[in-house]
Amino acid sequence: MNDNSVGQAQLDTLQKKLDSAIDSRRTLEEDFKTQSTLLIQFISKLSLVSKGVDLELDNRLAKLRVLFTKSAPIADIENSIAIITKLLQQHAITNEKNIAQMHQRFNIAGESLQKVNGLPNDLRRNLRELLSETKSTKDALIQYVPLLSQLLEFYINALSAKEKTATNGLLTTPNNAGDSAQTTLDTSSDNNSNTASTFELDESLLEKISVTLSALNLSQAHTNQLLAIKKKLMGDTTNKEIVNHFLEIFDVIVAEFKNEQNNAKSFLTSLSDTLTSVQLAVKETLETQKSSQLANDKINVVLQKQLVDMTGTVEKALSLDQVKLDINDKLQKIAGTLEAKSKIEQQSQLALSQKLTKMAEKVAQLEEKSRVFEEKLAEQQIKNMQDALTKLANRAAFDDYFAKAMVRFQHRPFELALVVIDIDDFKKINDTYGHSAGDKTLQVIANTIQKHVSKDVFVGRYGGEEFVLIYSQTAETDLINELNTINKQVARLPFKFKNNKVSITLSIGATHIRTDDNIHLAFERADEAMYKAKSQGKNQVIYSK
Ligand code: GH3
Ligand code: MG
Ligand code: MG
Repeated sequence: MNDNSVGQAQLDTLQKKLDSAIDSRRTLEEDFKTQSTLLIQFISKLSLVSKGVDLELDNRLAKLRVLFTKSAPIADIENSIAIITKLLQQHAITNEKNIAQMHQRFNIAGESLQKVNGLPNDLRRNLRELLSETKSTKDALIQYVPLLSQLLEFYINALSAKEKTATNGLLTTPNNAGDSAQTTLDTSSDNNSNTASTFELDESLLEKISVTLSALNLSQAHTNQLLAIKKKLMGDTTNKEIVNHFLEIFDVIVAEFKNEQNNAKSFLTSLSDTLTSVQLAVKETLETQKSSQLANDKINVVLQKQLVDMTGTVEKALSLDQVKLDINDKLQKIAGTLEAKSKIEQQSQLALSQKLTKMAEKVAQLEEKSRVFEEKLAEQQIKNMQDALTKLANRAAFDDYFAKAMVRFQHRPFELALVVIDIDDFKKINDTYGHSAGDKTLQVIANTIQKHVSKDVFVGRYGGEEFVLIYSQTAETDLINELNTINKQVARLPFKFKNNKVSITLSIGATHIRTDDNIHLAFERADEAMYKAKSQGKNQVIYSK
């Protein structure tokens, strides 16, 4: 190989190295280009996301974009990224603070709204749900936007409900956390709809009225009248109708009170009359006794004198014959006096016995009147413990019975069990078929429960569509079996409303009383078991240990 060819070979190698270096540089440049394009796109997106959050961050990101575009020295880019990172860190801290503040303010606003009186029940329920949903802090401020808009909507609804209440004036929605939703009654059937104002009649208010009316213990006739008015009230659509029916209710109650007052008054009047005549009779008897005593005394004096005379006759007599005559004569006089004495005694006896008979008659009359009055009082006492609609024991009777059973249990424990029964989806029956259908259903279910419980089980209506049972001698398995039977029997009842076959089910919670229980704890356990039955699909019995 000569020098020339060696030089050529070296040149070729160099040329190849150069070519490969140029290639690598091109690849590098392309890589840099795609990466910086990616970075520029990323920065653009970041700028878009954080736009308006922080002015300085906006500016810095714009500058970084320019640095990349004109391929600025890497040191400049590094510097710019460091500043942006710091800004982002500061921003994260501020963001967390803002979220915490927003969370707190949101909850304060929600809770303040909850405290407002007269909110419609569905609004109250929705608000409660919203607040429980917002219990834990959200990750980003943006997540509060839909919640805030919901809360604002609730505020608007609350304001309009308040305005409505103010204009209706007559009926305000009670501040009651009950779950019943509002029902708007249709007024299209109202003939006077031009003049009569319409309003939303709250279900829970009707329920309250219904319960209050059931609790009133009036005479049978007045109770029937009340039930009839209640039925009409449930169908009322205008203020005027409702006011009229309220007035009718007042009239019935006033009539009952008047009746009671008159009964008591007539009893008291006859009591006072009888006492006056008894007092008079006693006085007369005493007087009669006194005057007959006086007459008796007088006769005794006469007799005494006649006897003394007779003794004198014997002492002064000169002959036996004269004694005989004198004594005979005196004995006849004494016999006459004794006869008169017996007559006087008989007469006073007669007068006395007549007066006593009269007195006894009056007392007997009084006794009869007080017996009637006592019966009425006993009847009243029974009614005070009875639910007018279902004729079952009422809440007061339950409280009394359960408290007494608990005292016995604490003295010496026994198989004491408490059961809470709630009708499933009862509101739907009212809403679909009317309140009267609801009332009838309550009666039928009450009868069915009563019919299928063992003897000696206390059955009561706790309120609304809830019933309570108290078992005194039944162990767990038997109790559960019996409750399952009741459940099946009720579910099997062939209800028919407006030609629709409807089956109605129960949710039943039961528990036995424990030695460490109190009335409140035991009831809560049975109630919770009942709610568990609801949450597990209703139509079932849940027993809680
Ligand atoms: P759940 O299965 O969860 O128990 O639903 P529900 O519909 O039975 O329960 P809710 O508490 O929502 O409704 C109970 C309804 O019972 C509301 C009320 O109108 C009705 N109600 C309460 N007392 C009476 C009553 O004396 N007569 C009538 N007809 N309805 C009543
Ligand atoms: Mg209920
Ligand atoms: Mg119910």
